Amino acid sequence: MTEEREEFPLDVLFVGAGPANLAGAIHLKRLADEKGLEIEIGLIEKGDQIGSHSLSGAILDPIALKELFPDYLERGCPVEETQCRDRFYYLTQNRKFEVPFTPKYMHNEECCVISLSRFTRWLGEIAEEMGINIFPGFAGTQVLFSEDNQSILGVATGDKGIDKNGNKKATFEPGVNLTARVTIFGEGSRGSLIRQVDEKMEIFSKAMPQVFETAVKEVIELPETSPFLTGDTTVLHTFGYPLGLDTKGGGFLYRMKDNRISLGLVVGLDYEDPLLEPYRMFLKYKRHPLIADIIQGGKVLQQGAKTLSIGGYYTMPVLSVGGALFVGDSAAMLNSQRLKGIHTAMKSGMLAAETVIEALEKDDFSQATLRAYDQKVMDSWIASERYEARNFSQALSRKGVVKFMHIGAQYFTKGRGLKDPLDIVEDCATLKKLPKDFDASALETEKPEYDGTLYLDKLTGVYLSGTQHLEDQPCHLIVHNTDICETLCYEEYRNPCTRFCPAQVYEMVEETPGERRLVLNPSNCLHCKTCEIKDPYKNITWTCPEGGGGPKYSIV
Ligand code: SF4
Repeated sequence: MTEEREEFPLDVLFVGAGPANLAGAIHLKRLADEKGLEIEIGLIEKGDQIGSHSLSGAILDPIALKELFPDYLERGCPVEETQCRDRFYYLTQNRKFEVPFTPKYMHNEECCVISLSRFTRWLGEIAEEMGINIFPGFAGTQVLFSEDNQSILGVATGDKGIDKNGNKKATFEPGVNLTARVTIFGEGSRGSLIRQVDEKMEIFSKAMPQVFETAVKEVIELPETSPFLTGDTTVLHTFGYPLGLDTKGGGFLYRMKDNRISLGLVVGLDYEDPLLEPYRMFLKYKRHPLIADIIQGGKVLQQGAKTLSIGGYYTMPVLSVGGALFVGDSAAMLNSQRLKGIHTAMKSGMLAAETVIEALEKDDFSQATLRAYDQKVMDSWIASERYEARNFSQALSRKGVVKFMHIGAQYFTKGRGLKDPLDIVEDCATLKKLPKDFDASALETEKPEYDGTLYLDKLTGVYLSGTQHLEDQPCHLIVHNTDICETLCYEEYRNPCTRFCPAQVYEMVEETPGERRLVLNPSNCLHCKTCEIKDPYKNITWTCPEGGGGPKYSIV
């Protein structure tokens, strides 16, 4: 970090412009106005605009949105589809079997389909109109701790205009130290700042290890004559093909406005096969007859990828420390049983706002006061609905029919199941080593077919995500020991990073036979964090690139 940094003092700083922090900032401003408290609220976002890094399925349970804005439809909330009439299928390679009964937690009658990027942009506009200081294009790169590391003082944003060798360019602008009486971290899945907090304050030390899924998602425009646009079904969920029953995950297809659909596949990152490629699974999914019939004649408008932290209740960190609170996906708020997390994220942000108001009135931001937030979460519907799902993600990780025994037992015992808590293994530890005599030609047997319109290669997908980074900046992907990649990882797993990354950032180049070299294309990075999570040697650290870089999602 450079010396000549300005300090920008705020009362409350929100880090990340996801639904948790935007709902929290709006709720806080409204409560402060009601009480006549004049406070400066700031919100930073690493994307170039609010919404440009927001991607989700997304079916929204509007329970928290109604608490925030009972008149959300009249206010112009960008809802894509208000009628969620869903069907749930088990897929084999060529066939589909409709599941006749789905548990209540999977019902979506009260929900609506949204585009998370459009939704967060809408919330951001409201926040700005209310007088909240919104700073898009500013990446928080370092947490500012008190000298004794017992409390958090704010966040430092990254310098801009540093070249790839670490030298200042003519465009150099130093970052700013944003200090605040309380900082609210809502960075989303696998945040890089919350990792720093954990290193100093051990907020995850009593939690089970977090587990993740990677989602690849597209928005596809269908021909106007497509029967799906006028049919009765608006929402499809599937499991089975192409992942089978031993790999966690499944697919979704939701109807949107303007002849569009949202299509995606989520893949549990506890998969064991080092040759599995989530992006290729997504292409296979699109070619299943159920999906291919719906999307035929369509055109992909936008593509993206992200990870979801799905561990749930038992993976929750301590939610408050001196000077800071943790909300949304950063704090494991997603309910994997309901395949939803936007409503819980928003509610957590709103409860954080209520806690901050109490702290402002007492002028006390110590953990003793902020701990009220942990209790508010435990007393709210967030905790009760997630408590019933407390062993669900672990059950999904089980293989074959054992999985269904656990899920069934949990259903009848309100989440307790056959064992409580059910244990889980970190995603980086699940890959199985390849045999020593593994035949590398097996990697090449099945080449996907691309058409540039509906079936896209990874680089066309990156292009349609709008992803851009300045090329001349320090590489934001730290590979700690490339010797491991070029020898041990090649021998044991054939470099799974070249497959699990959905953006072709990692390539292993063999210039002369037996001489391999890892080449990185960091400017393709979609900020999904899969590489940091799944690398079997924990050899990759994702750091925040210069603010404003990354995807430019607008409709996913
Ligand atoms: Fe995701 Fe890592 Fe690839 Fe970036 S480099 S797109 S974070 S897997």
